[in-house]
Amino acid sequence: MSYKLFIPGPVAVSEKTLRAMAQPMIGHRSTDFVALYNSLQPGLQAIAGTADPVYLSTSSAWGVMEGSIRNVVKKKVLACMNGAFSDKWLDVAQRCGKPAGALKFEWGQPVDPAAVRRELATGAYDALTLIHNETSCGCMSDLAAIMAVVREFPDVIAIVDTVSSLSALPIPKDELGIDVLVSGSQKAFALPPGMSFLSVSKRALARAATVADRGYYFDFLEFQKNHELGMTPSTPIIPLIYALKSKLEDIAAEGLPARFARHARLNQTVRHWGTAKGFKLFPKEGYGSVTLNCFANTLGYDLPALNKILKTKHSLVIDGGYGKLKGKTFRISNMGDETAASIASLLQSLDAALAETPKLPA
Ligand SMILES: *Cc1c(COP(=O)(O)O)cnc(C)c1O
Repeated sequence: MSYKLFIPGPVAVSEKTLRAMAQPMIGHRSTDFVALYNSLQPGLQAIAGTADPVYLSTSSAWGVMEGSIRNVVKKKVLACMNGAFSDKWLDVAQRCGKPAGALKFEWGQPVDPAAVRRELATGAYDALTLIHNETSCGCMSDLAAIMAVVREFPDVIAIVDTVSSLSALPIPKDELGIDVLVSGSQKAFALPPGMSFLSVSKRALARAATVADRGYYFDFLEFQKNHELGMTPSTPIIPLIYALKSKLEDIAAEGLPARFARHARLNQTVRHWGTAKGFKLFPKEGYGSVTLNCFANTLGYDLPALNKILKTKHSLVIDGGYGKLKGKTFRISNMGDETAASIASLLQSLDAALAETPKLPA
C-alpha cells in the first residue's frame, strides 16, 4: 500500500526526485563524478550561507554528529539539551569518551542564550553542541542570539545541527560564526534518507588537525582532502547524489526566498488549523518550528486510532509523538515539497479523521 508521509522525517519524496536516482552508476573517482560533485557546491553553499565547502557524507545525520564530536572536542563539550536529539548528543559524546557537560532545558523550551554564556564563562569548554530545530518537540531556538553568545568565546567550536531546518529558512553559517554545520537529506531537503551534509570552518579544521583519535570515516581532514579533488573519502551513495542534483535544480528554480516564504506560510496554515481546533502548540510561544507543528494532545484523542484512520482512509500518516511525548503530542511536518494544495488536502483529511477518532478516557 502506498501512503504519504507527513511525519517530520523522512518526508515525502517527489516523483522527479525518485526518478533522478534511477540512473546508471558512475565511478566515484571518474571525471564524471568530479563534475557532478563540483556542480553541487554552489547550490549547497548558498543554502548554508557559507564560502566553506559542503561535504557529502554517506551516513544518516548521526554519523556526522558523532564525527563532529570526535574531530573537535579536546577539553570538554557543552551539550545544549531541550529535546530527544539534543539529549542524545550528550550520550553520544560520552560514548566517544569525551568529557561532556549538560545544559538542560525542559523539552519544548528553547536554549537560553544567557544560560549558555554562564556555562561557557566557566572556561571549561572548547566545543558546544546545539540543535537549531528540535524536531522531537517542534521547538526552534534563537540561533542568531545563541551564536552571538558563543562567539564571545573564541576557543569554543560551535557544532550546530540544522538537520530539520536547513533549506527551509535562512541559516547564514559564516555570518553567524557557526564552525560545524550538520544537516541531513530526509528532512527539509525532501530527499530519501542515507546522506548527510557537513560544512566545517577553517578554525574547526585547524582544531581537528590537533586531535589524534578522530577516526577515519568521519575525519574532517579526509573530507577536506578529497573535497579538493572533487570527491568524497569513500564510495558515496551515488543515487542520492543524483537526487540532490535534481533537488538543487528545483530549489534554484523556486528561489531560496520563495522556498523560505512557502515553509513559513504552510507552517502557519497548519498552526492556525490546530489552534482553531483547540489544540495547544507544545513548544514555548514564539519558539515553534517553521518546518513542523508539535501540538499538545489537549483534546485527548486516541492518537494511534487517529493515525490508523488517516492511513487506511486517507492514505497519509502524521506522527503520534516522539519518545516520552508519545500519545501526549502529535507532529505534522510541512517541510520539503508541500504546497498550499497538499496542506489543504491534509487538513481536510485530518478534519474528517478527527470526527471519527475516539477520545481517551479522561
Ligand atoms: C532526524 C534528526 C536527527 C537524526 O537524523 P538521522 O538521519 O536519523 O541520523 C538529528 N537531529 C535532528 C534535529 C533531527 O531532526
